[in-house]
Amino acid sequence: AATGGSTTVRQVKLDKECELRIETSLDSPLRLRLLTGTAEIFGTEIPPEIWLTIPPRLKFAVFTWYGATIEMDGLTETDYTADETPMISYINVHAVLDGRRNRAKASPSDSDTSQGPRVVVVGPTDSGKSTLSRMLLSWAAKQGWKPTFVDLDIGQGSITIPGCVAATPIELPIDPVEGIPLEMPMVYFFGHVTPSANIDHYKVLVKELAQTLERQFSGNAESRASGMVINTMGWIEGVGYELLLHAIDTFNATVILVLGQEKLCSMLKDVLKNRPNVDVVKLQKSGGVVSRNAKVRQKARGYRIREYFYGPSNDLSPHSNVVNFGDLFIYRIGGGPQAPRSALPIGAEPAADPTRLVSVSINRDLLHLVLAVSYANEPDQIISSNVAGFIYVTDVDMHRKKITYLAPCAGELPSKYLIMGTLTWIEN
Ligand code: ADP
Repeated sequence: AATGGSTTVRQVKLDKECELRIETSLDSPLRLRLLTGTAEIFGTEIPPEIWLTIPPRLKFAVFTWYGATIEMDGLTETDYTADETPMISYINVHAVLDGRRNRAKASPSDSDTSQGPRVVVVGPTDSGKSTLSRMLLSWAAKQGWKPTFVDLDIGQGSITIPGCVAATPIELPIDPVEGIPLEMPMVYFFGHVTPSANIDHYKVLVKELAQTLERQFSGNAESRASGMVINTMGWIEGVGYELLLHAIDTFNATVILVLGQEKLCSMLKDVLKNRPNVDVVKLQKSGGVVSRNAKVRQKARGYRIREYFYGPSNDLSPHSNVVNFGDLFIYRIGGGPQAPRSALPIGAEPAADPTRLVSVSINRDLLHLVLAVSYANEPDQIISSNVAGFIYVTDVDMHRKKITYLAPCAGELPSKYLIMGTLTWIEN
């Protein structure tokens, strides 16, 4: 691309252990290629010579261990070279994890020793948790392991749309443009972007996910030895901290990586001091991590949902479908109308079970909601079932009693049971 006659193609020479930090422009993609040397994007090596097209609004770094020349074509929001990165400490962690995977692989498959490292990445929002998780997974996959990526961050979601807890095996280094492959994720729908909407429900889903993975690992020595990398939420105070501990317990974590927070690290070291098999390690936050305010994060959620329906490079075409009200059964979990205090016996507290299944009657309130399609065969299995995918309600015709929705593909939904939360999206 050329603007005003001046070319935008330029070359950047990177010395060893340096990175080129880039924020692509808000509206146009950037073309980039490796001319000499070797380089990686968040743990995944980039091929020599071949032009990569990086979509708009992406913040990333091209890092080189031994030196490289990068060529860029297009305008960026920012790009600069940094020679101070925490990458050495990150790759050292990888080396330790790798040793543990090898030990697990060499152990008899029926004991605890055959379990590879279970790594939990914690830290405040924008400390680089998702990025570190990604690097550890890609480095492991490069070496032939099949680690499981678990994402408990319902605020953003690297595996699927926000509002979910999810897991997926990583068999190849993660593609810097396409992201996590979506062939076989295990997804549980929470339906809200903060756990405070229903703490008990969130915990139930984390537990369901952990148990499902545990069952899968018991029959799969390879993924068991490869272990897990678990990304968590940036909420680390009060209830957020309790939920971190809950996740550490539920997944039987063996390594806790704390990014950029002294206090959180010492708190975790203290509560976990009686568990000799759990290591708490403090790691430096990268200076390249870009802070995002609440508005930017909200926008990012919208893009993520858009990506689900339209693909990361706008290469998918979702289908608009119409069904009768009677063909769908919509539920939400917990909350909802409670018995007023005055209707209860004196002294009794209104007991609304936060994990109670509530049937939702179809009306215009469903407009613009993102609903999950449950794999449940019966309503009472909904809370413990993972989901097949999502639909987006684009019209509710009360007159004809018909719902119009967007789905990734045409045809009948895999189930008539839908789960509703507060997750909305305005298509634009
Ligand atoms: P967290 O998961 O802790 O909220 P992320 O890992 O998502 O943080 O990082 C926040 C943003 O910063 C992301 O857009 C990520 O791509 C970007 N980022 C992380 N590390 C770097 C880096 N070294 N250079 C440029 N951008 C980075």
